[in-house]
This record gives sequence, C-alpha cells and structure tokens, in this order.
Amino acid sequence: MKKIAVAIDGPAAAGKSTVAKRVAEILNFTYIDTGAMYRAFTWYCLEKGLDCQDEKACVAVIPEVKIELKPGHIVLCNGQDVSKEIRLPRVSQNVSYIASYKDIRLALVELQRAMAETSSVIMDGRDIGTYVLPNAEVKIFQIASVETRAIRRYDENISKGIPCTLEEIEEDVRRRDYIDSHRDFAPLKPAADSVLLDTSFMNVDEVVNEVLKIIEQKMKEKVNA
Ligand code: C5P
Repeated sequence: MKKIAVAIDGPAAAGKSTVAKRVAEILNFTYIDTGAMYRAFTWYCLEKGLDCQDEKACVAVIPEVKIELKPGHIVLCNGQDVSKEIRLPRVSQNVSYIASYKDIRLALVELQRAMAETSSVIMDGRDIGTYVLPNAEVKIFQIASVETRAIRRYDENISKGIPCTLEEIEEDVRRRDYIDSHRDFAPLKPAADSVLLDTSFMNVDEVVNEVLKIIEQKMKEKVNA
C-alpha cells in the first residue's frame, strides 16, 4: 500500500496528540509528536543552564543534541529518557522561544521528514501541513476555545501528577499560541488545504471518529481524482 501522511496542526493543548495517538493505533500508522522534539531540545538547554531567550547560545548546542522518538511514546535526549521531564511547566514556559529559532527548527524538521520517509505517519505540530510535509495527503487544523484547552491540559497534568493551577495553564497556552503564531519562520497557521476541526464541544471519541472520517473521505477523493 502507498505511504500516507496525515498532518494535524493547531494551537497548544487542542488535544492533537491524544487524537493522533488513537488514530495512529487504529490505522497502524507511526505517530510522530513533533512538539516532544522541541520540548526535548528545551529540556537540554535548561539542563545546561542556558537562557532559552538567548538564541545564539541555544543554537550553538545543536551538534550536541540527539533526539529520538521510540515506540511507546518514549522521548530520548542523548540516550536519556526525558518523556516525563519534557511535560514539566519549566519546559512548557520556555519551549516556544526555542521553537522560534530557525536553525533549531531546520535541524528538527530534517529528522521529522526522515521519519515520514519510511512508513505511513500521523504527525502533529504547528507547521506540519504548511512546512514539514506540504504534500501530506490529509491536513487537519484542530482548534478549541482557549478555556476548553486550558481545562483539558489542567486535567491531564493533574492526572499525571504534574502540579499546576488552571490560571497558570491558561496563561501558558495563550502565551505559547502568541509566540508560535507570530514567529517569522514556519509560524502556527492553517494550511490553505487543511480541514478545520473545532473540538470545543466534542469528546475524544467524537474527534477520533471525525478524523477517521476526514482521512477516509480524502483518500476517496484522491482515488477518484
Ligand atoms: O505540541 P506541544 O504543545 O507539545 O508543543 C510544544 C511547543 O513546541 C509549541 O508550543 C511550539 O512552540 C513548539 N512546536 C513548534 N512546531 C511544531 C511542534 C511544536 O513550534 N511542529
């Protein structure tokens, strides 16, 4: 069967990864969490004591950083399992600075494209449909109101034992969206050929079913084209 690429972009905490993981399992596609890669890079800079707002210092460590995504949603940074650490507030608060640096993006995009070479993928992020995989067969831009997204991320953090308040999460989500959509290089924005999916009033099962329907529909259109 031909390889298929599904791109899911959208603002912070829109539920992209939850849905992408489930759809990947159902379709037997490889799930690629590009946000985890920017988070792992940020974690490394913080461990080194770097100021994440210092572009020059952070770009300088690119050759030292090896990021790998392993089965079971494991994220390795230079061989160390950082899957839990990258979800901590200190990483969330700094990741959008790191993700705004062109050289770091180019390095990580190269890895992301290489991962999409070998199998069918579902990749989530901010610039997948617009920049990383512009020829993806299916592009979805998943949104929800900022209040809904903050509550979802708050519940998720609490269930994982990550201490936080709803106010902090809402502020973090707003700040990241602002930086992500205002950066010069590959900002957060819907691809012209993406399907907009507003999940504000949908539960996870409903979103998963909708995404599966969109994929099926797009594949039919391609066959008939
Ligand atoms: O997806 P997640 O919220 O974990 O992503 C963390 C951060 O990584 C985003 O706020 C954004 O700054 C950055 N990111 C990005 N491009 C992507 C994926 C994530 O800039 N493709």
